[in-house]
Amino acid sequence: MEYQAKELFAKHDVPVTLGIVANTPDEAKVAAEQLGVVVVKAQVKAGGRGKAGGVKLAKTPDEAFDHASNILGMQIKGLTVNRVLIAPAASIQEEYYFSFLLDRANRSYLCIASVEGGVEIEEVAKTNPDAVKQIPIDAGTGVDEAKAREIVAEAGFPEALVEQAVTTVLTLWKVFVEEDATLVEVNPLARLEGDILEALDGKVSLDENAEFRHEDHAAFEDKAAADPLEAKAKEKGLNYVKLDGEVGIIGNGAGLVMSTLDVVAYAGEKHGGVKPANFLDIGGGASAQVMADGLDVILNDAQVKSVFVNVFGGITSCDAVANGIVGALDILGDEASKPLVVRLDGNNVEEGRRILNEKNHPLVTLVDTMDGAADRAAELANTSSNGEGA
Ligand code: GDP
Ligand code: MN
Repeated sequence: MEYQAKELFAKHDVPVTLGIVANTPDEAKVAAEQLGVVVVKAQVKAGGRGKAGGVKLAKTPDEAFDHASNILGMQIKGLTVNRVLIAPAASIQEEYYFSFLLDRANRSYLCIASVEGGVEIEEVAKTNPDAVKQIPIDAGTGVDEAKAREIVAEAGFPEALVEQAVTTVLTLWKVFVEEDATLVEVNPLARLEGDILEALDGKVSLDENAEFRHEDHAAFEDKAAADPLEAKAKEKGLNYVKLDGEVGIIGNGAGLVMSTLDVVAYAGEKHGGVKPANFLDIGGGASAQVMADGLDVILNDAQVKSVFVNVFGGITSCDAVANGIVGALDILGDEASKPLVVRLDGNNVEEGRRILNEKNHPLVTLVDTMDGAADRAAELANTSSNGEGA
C-alpha cells in the first residue's frame, strides 16, 4: 500500500512526506488537525484510486472527517478500503511517472519514465507512446550515477530538477535492490512549488522468494484482503493458489499439478468452458491428514463443482495415497459433498486402486488415465453447475 511504500522510500532517502494512517473518520479528523490542509487517500493494493474517488482534498478537519467517512468501506477494484492515509496537501506544478521493474522477457531490469505522469499515464502510453521512455538496465551493473544521468536525460526532466532527479533515481534504485523488489513505481513523482521533487504516491511489489532476508516485510501483508481459503491453506502449510474455475485440483508435485491445470482447462472446452478452480500441490507425503486438509480447503470453495485428485506415486506409494483419500473422506464426513475423480499411477498402483474400489465411496470415480480423468472431472463440474440451474 502507498503508506507502506512511502515508509520504504523514507528508509532509503527517497524524498517523501509520510502523513498519518487513519482507520476511522475520527482519526482522520485528528490527523487533519495536526497537518492542516490534507489529502485523504484510500489505502488498497490497487492503482487508479484517484479516478475511483478514493483521493480527496480536505481543507478543514471536518472535511477530512467527511471524506474519510465516504472513502472507508469503499470498494476499489474489488478491494475494501479499511484505512486512509492523511497526507499534507502538496501544491503540484507537474506530475511525472517513474518506475523500475523486473523485465522477465529480457532477463533484466527496465526503467520506465515519463514527464507526462499522473492519473492518465495509461492513456498517454496508448496515444503518445513516445512520451513514455523505456530504458533497459543491465542487471550486472545496475544503476550508478552515470546511468541515473542517462535515465534523467532520456526521460526529459526539466533543467531545474536534474540534480534532484538523479539523486531520486539513485535512491529509488536502492529501494529496488535492497528491498528485493520486482516493482518500484512512483506516480506522480511531483514537481512541487519551489522546484522540489517529491514522491506523492508509491507502489512496491516485493519478491516473496526473498522474504527470508526481510523479516520486516511480513508486516506489509494485508491479512484482511487475503483470500480466506488461501489464508486457511497457508495456515495448514499447503501450497494453494485460488483460481476462478469450477474443477478443484489436488496433485503431488508442482509440475504434475501445473500440467493437470492445463489438461483440465483443455478438457473443459468440451464441457461448457469449465476451468480449474485452484492450484494445490500436496507434495510428497500424501497422508490422510494432508489429503483431508487439501480437500477441506477445496470443498469450501463455493465455486468448486467437482474435484480431480491426480497423484503419481513415487516415493509415496499409491496405496498410501489411496488410504489417505479414504481416511480424508472419513475425517470430512458429510462435508465431502462433491464428486471426486481420482487418477492414481506409479508405485504400487494396483494396490491403491484396489483400496479405492473396495471402499466404493459414492462420491469417488476412479479413472486410469490423466486425460480421461480430466475429461470426467470437467464433465461432472459442468453437469453439477447446470443442475443448479437459474
Ligand atoms: P492513484 O490514483 O491510486 O494513483 O493515487 P495518487 O496518489 O497518484 O493520486 C491521484 C492524483 O491525485 C494524483 O495524480 C494527483 O493529481 C492528486 N493528488 C494526490 N496527492 C495530492 C496532493 O497532495 N495535492 C494535490 N493537489 N493533488 C494530489
Ligand atoms: Mn498514483
